[in-house]
Formats: sequence, structure tokens, C-alpha cells
Amino acid sequence: RHAKEQNQFVAFYREGFDEAHLRRLAIVEQLPKAIANGGFKLVAQPKVLASTGRTVAAEILIRWHDETLGWVGPDEFIPLAEQSGMITEITHWVVKQAEHWVNQLLQLQDEIKLSINISAVDLINDKLANDLIALSQRNMQRYLILEVTESALMHEPEKSIACLQMLSELGYEISIDDYGTGYSSLSQIRRLPINELKIDRAFIQYLMSQPEDQSIVRSTIQLAHELNLRVVAEGVEDEASWRWLAEHQCDVLQGYYFSKPISFDDLHLRLLKEKEHA
Ligand code: C2E
Ligand code: MG
Ligand code: MG
Ligand code: MG
Repeated sequence: RHAKEQNQFVAFYREGFDEAHLRRLAIVEQLPKAIANGGFKLVAQPKVLASTGRTVAAEILIRWHDETLGWVGPDEFIPLAEQSGMITEITHWVVKQAEHWVNQLLQLQDEIKLSINISAVDLINDKLANDLIALSQRNMQRYLILEVTESALMHEPEKSIACLQMLSELGYEISIDDYGTGYSSLSQIRRLPINELKIDRAFIQYLMSQPEDQSIVRSTIQLAHELNLRVVAEGVEDEASWRWLAEHQCDVLQGYYFSKPISFDDLHLRLLKEKEHA
């Protein structure tokens, strides 16, 4: 009886394992088609000034709906696109769209900042660097922020840091995404050419009920400011956290409380409304 139970467990476990495995295979198989046929969509999540709640920037986030796979989240397919090298083409497309969005938003107002997420792989091949050099010749660098995670820099540190250095010298702003989840300390990060630190959602989520998180966030903001970095909190979901973060001098906030990721048209509308109410 015992052996039978164990077999059932093994069968159950393997089925679960196989299902996830098959889905990953299917994703890798479908990705090239999505790239070739324009299967991706971009949305944007507003980044607001903590002191006023007004939109000062937006982060571009990719979305993919596949006929057979359904919705596939970026956390699911981006790592696979990185492993298979397809991320290079995806990032190329995102950068092109971002330029298009900037140009459209500049017809509405003089200043806008759009963030795009950059992968480790993008920092060690020439495609992204060449694209961004070309964009800077059209003066795009002042409108784009490049979000990079700490772990992306650990990949091939010398090459990626040299790439960031070059992009920073061109005038692009660099942001460290998901800060606090990796192993780097601010003392290591201060050597990098960065402008912004995004405190990971994990520290913001339970902010109001976790004194430890408050200590971490408070001291991170303080230290980041001493290093002349702008601080962004991601994943702000309630008003109390907003108040707390504003009181503690966090500069910019992002999260469902202000807005979920929205379409370009909705972002445009939001900026238009804010302008009318200025
Ligand atoms: P990220 O760059 O840290 O983006 C923030 C993620 O948190 C987004 O998930 C966003 O929808 C979600 N989020 C924002 N506010 C809240 C909140 O208040 N509560 C909760 N629960 N979640 C919130 P998303 O869009 O699923 O993206 C996940 C990750 O996938 C991103 O994390 C980023 O690392 C990656 N990613 C997304 N788009 C791209 C892309 O175009 N290129 C690359 N290389 N990576 C991307
Ligand atoms: Mg990001
Ligand atoms: Mg993040
Ligand atoms: Mg993330």
C-alpha cells in the first residue's frame, strides 16, 4: 500500500513537472513566430512623483497573448528568450516602439521619460548598444531610462559595466531595478554610472505592517540620496504606504494604487487629464 501511494505521488509529481516543461518548450517554439508576426504588445505603468502624485514617467512592460498558450507573462517568457538568444530581437522591437511613443508624447508636452527593461544579454552584445547610439543621434537619450537588475550586471561584469558606462556617457539614465533582491551592496553599486534605484516590491508590499521593511527602506533612501540617486518604490498598493514613502523622502512611486500597466492610449489620456488639471 505504501509503495502504491508513493507511485501515485511520483506519477503526480512527474505529471506536474512534465506540464511545466512542455509549456516551456511550447513557449520557446512559439516565440519566433510572435517576434516575426508582431505578436507582442506593450503597456506602460505610470511612475508618479511621491510629493504630488503626478505622472513624471512610465515604465514600458511587454505583453504576449498566444492563440494556444493564452497569456504568457514576461516573468515566464523573458528568461526563456534570454536563454535562446531571442531577447535581442525583442529588445530591438521594444526600443523601436519606445522611440515611437516618445515622439507621440512629445506632441503633448515637452518632457517625458519612458523606462525600458534591459536584459543581461543585451548588455553583452552589440545590437542594443548600436540601436541606442542611433537613437541618441536623434536626441532620444534624454527621454529614455534603462532599467537593469543587479543580477544582470553580475553576468559578465566588465563587459556589461563598460556598456552601461558608454550608454550613460551618451546621456541615457540608468536605473537599478528590483534593488535589494540581489547580493550587491550600495557600496558596490556606487561605482556604476547610475541615476536611479528602484526598491523591490518585496520591501514595499508589507511596508505598513513590517517595521523591519520600514528600517530597510528608510536607510536605503537615505544612503541612495547621499549617493545622489533618485529613489523609486515599486509595488505601492495603498495610500498609507504612499504617505509613509513621501514622508521619508522617496522620490518616485509606482504601483497599482496609482495605476496598473495601461495601454498607450490610456497613458496619453492620463497625461492629457493631468495637464488640464494643472
Ligand atoms: P519589473 O521591471 O520589476 O516590473 C514590475 C512588475 O511589477 C511588472 O510586472 C508590473 O506589472 C508589476 N507591478 C507593478 N506594480 C505592482 C503592484 O502594485 N503590485 C503588484 N503585485 N505588481 C505590480 P510584469 O509586467 O509582469 O513584468 C515582470 C517582469 O518582467 C518585469 O519586472 C521585468 O523584469 C520583465 N519585463 C517586462 N517587460 C519587459 C521587457 O520589455 N523586456 C525585458 N527584458 N524584461 C521585461
Ligand atoms: Mg523594471
Ligand atoms: Mg522591478
Ligand atoms: Mg521584477
